This record gives sequence, structure tokens and C-alpha cells, in this order.
Amino acid sequence: MAVKGEKKKKTVKTIKIDVDKCNGCRACEMICSAFHAAPKYSSNNPARSRIRVIREPLRDVYVPVYAGEYTQAECAGRDKYTIDGKEYDECAFCRASCPSRDEFKEPDSGLPLKCDMCEGEEEPLCVKWCMVDALSYEAREEEVEETVEQEVLETGLESLANKYGMQKIMDAVARMSQKD
Ligand code: SF4
Ligand code: SF4
Repeated sequence: MAVKGEKKKKTVKTIKIDVDKCNGCRACEMICSAFHAAPKYSSNNPARSRIRVIREPLRDVYVPVYAGEYTQAECAGRDKYTIDGKEYDECAFCRASCPSRDEFKEPDSGLPLKCDMCEGEEEPLCVKWCMVDALSYEAREEEVEETVEQEVLETGLESLANKYGMQKIMDAVARMSQKD
């Protein structure tokens, strides 16, 4: 395990979003959910995508938002923006998988979804599939103070434990491991 305060080189990955170019086609949602299906590309369901496009054609609003971290508690207050005369919903740009809403959660289980920048791929697939170049990818090296990264599995377990209680999860795991 890394010691806190230690400096380490890290690749910082950025996806630039040009909302003026986005036309709301939602190809990014399609490819993301297909790529993350198990097995890969076996199904697609934009509700399981790690990118969501705020899409309101009548008001000419198309804003892609990426799934960020899981959070156990909602914020004390909610933000609401008006930009260039266009009003957006409460928490519209927030990336969190948060108890206050259904965004960035698996529709069946409620487990948190988080963009992993298409780990293992040369370029994020949503960037590749955006035909109008509303999304562009950049990677750079940066020195950062290392913190212990929480594994995706742990985050999933934590969110389940918050929802059902740890004992229920343990009981379910015990039952499942007895099956064979
Ligand atoms: S694929 Fe590109 S244009 Fe289509 S919704 Fe996504 S970001 Fe917008
Ligand atoms: S980078 Fe990959 S995981 Fe993240 S939203 Fe795009 S397609 Fe989904």
C-alpha cells in the first residue's frame, strides 16, 4: 500500500466536451453501455451508460455529463444554473452517483456506475463514436500525491451495504457460496 504524501507519476486523462458541437444523437451512450455489457457488446442500454446527455431539443440543450464517484450522502444544498438564458435542472451537471437521484446507477440493482475512461482501450469509445467531435481526448503525465484508490468492487459493496446493511450482504454471500 502506498504511503500518503509520496509523489508518483500519474497519467491524467481528460475528455474535453464542446457542448456547442453536441447534437444529442446519444451515440456515446449507446457505445458506452455496449462496451460495458458482460460479455462486451452483448447488449446495449443507454440507462447503463457512464455518460448521459442532458437532451432538450425544444430548448436546444445538449450537454454530455460523465459518471463520477459514488457518494453515500447527498449535498446539504443543490445547485441550479441558468446559462445564456437557459435554465438547467437541479444538480444537472453533477457527476456523482448520489442517493438523491437515479442517474449513474445500474437500473436493476442501483449499483453505482462510474466512467473508467474505457480502461484498456487506446481512446475512450464515446470519443471515437462522436461523429461531430464534440468529445476529444487528452492524456498527460502529472506528479501527484498518491492516495489509496478504492477499488470498483469495494465501492459496489459499500453501496450495497449502505442500502441493505452489511449483515444482509454477508448472509447473501454465505447462501450463494453454499449453492454448489
Ligand atoms: S455522440 Fe457526440 S454528438 Fe452524439 S450525443 Fe454524444 S457527445 Fe453529443
Ligand atoms: S470514456 Fe468509456 S466508460 Fe467513460 S463514458 Fe466514455 S465510453 Fe463510457
